[in-house]
Amino acid sequence: MKTYAITGGATGIGAALKQKLLSLGYRVIVIDIQQADIIADLSTIAGRHVAITELNNLASKGLDGFIPCAGLGPNTTPYSLITKVNFFGAIELISGITPLLIQRKGAVVAIASNSAALPGLDENYIAALMDENEALACDHIETLDGHNAYAGSKHALIQWVRTKAPAMIQQGVRMNVIAPGMTATPLTDKVFKDPVYGNAMQEFSALIPAGAIAHPDMVADSILFLLSPAARYICGSVLFVDGGQDASFRPRKF
Ligand code: NAD
Repeated sequence: MKTYAITGGATGIGAALKQKLLSLGYRVIVIDIQQADIIADLSTIAGRHVAITELNNLASKGLDGFIPCAGLGPNTTPYSLITKVNFFGAIELISGITPLLIQRKGAVVAIASNSAALPGLDENYIAALMDENEALACDHIETLDGHNAYAGSKHALIQWVRTKAPAMIQQGVRMNVIAPGMTATPLTDKVFKDPVYGNAMQEFSALIPAGAIAHPDMVADSILFLLSPAARYICGSVLFVDGGQDASFRPRKF
C-alpha cells in the first residue's frame, strides 16, 4: 500500500491533505505535536530524532511521499521557534528519512509560502539557515522580526530544496515546493487576530486577485498533484498556489 508521512497533519493544510490521501486508500503517518501517530516536537533536536526513529519503525518498507507541513506563523514568539520548526524541522526530517524515500522512489513536497518571494529579507539570516547553523540563525533572528523569521525561513527552505533536488532525483527522489498564499487555517486565524500583524494581513488578503483567501483543500490538491505520477518529471520547482498574488506583485520575475 502506498504510504505517506506528513508533519503538521493535525490541522489546517496538513489535515486536509491527510483526508485526501486516506480517501484514495493510502496509508498516512502523521507527525505532530498533537493528534498524531508520532507525537514529536519538531522545534527540538530530540523531537526530530524521535520523529525520524519512529518513522523508520512505522515505515520500514519505505515511503512514497513525505510532506513537511508543520509550521508556525509570523506572530509566534520567540521568533527562533519559527526558525526551528519551519526550517530545521523540515530539512532535518527530509535528510533523516531520505533512505526511506529512496526505497520507494518517493516524492517530497515542502511547504513554503508566497511571502518567501517578498523583497527585503535579511541576507545574514538566510545565509545562517543555508549553512544549517541553527544556533547562529536562532540568535540572529531574535534581533529582527516575525516577518523575517517566517518569510526568511520559507525563502531558505526553497533555496535548500532547490540546492538538493538535482542530487536527490539521481537517487530516484523528486523534491518540489508549494508556495501557498493566505489559506483559511488555525495559523491564519491567529495571525488575523494578532495586534501587530492582524491589520497588515487583512490588507494583504484584500489584494488577492482571485478575490478570497484559499481553502486548505485547494492547497492540498496541488500537493497531491506534485506527489502524483502526473508530476513525474517535475523536480526542484516552486508552485505558487496563491490566487495570482505573487504574479500581481512580481509579474516580470520568475
Ligand atoms: P496550522 O496551524 O493549521 O497547522 C500547523 C501544524 O503544525 C499543526 O498541526 C501544529 O500542531 C503543527 N506544529 C506546530 N508546531 C509544531 C512543532 N513544534 N512540532 C510539530 N508540529 C508542530 O497551519 P497551516 O496554515 O495548515 O500551515 C501548514 C503549513 O502551511 C505551514 O508550514 C505554514 O507555514 C504554511 N503556509 C500556511 C499559509 C496560510 O495562510 N495558512 C500560507 C502559506 C504557507
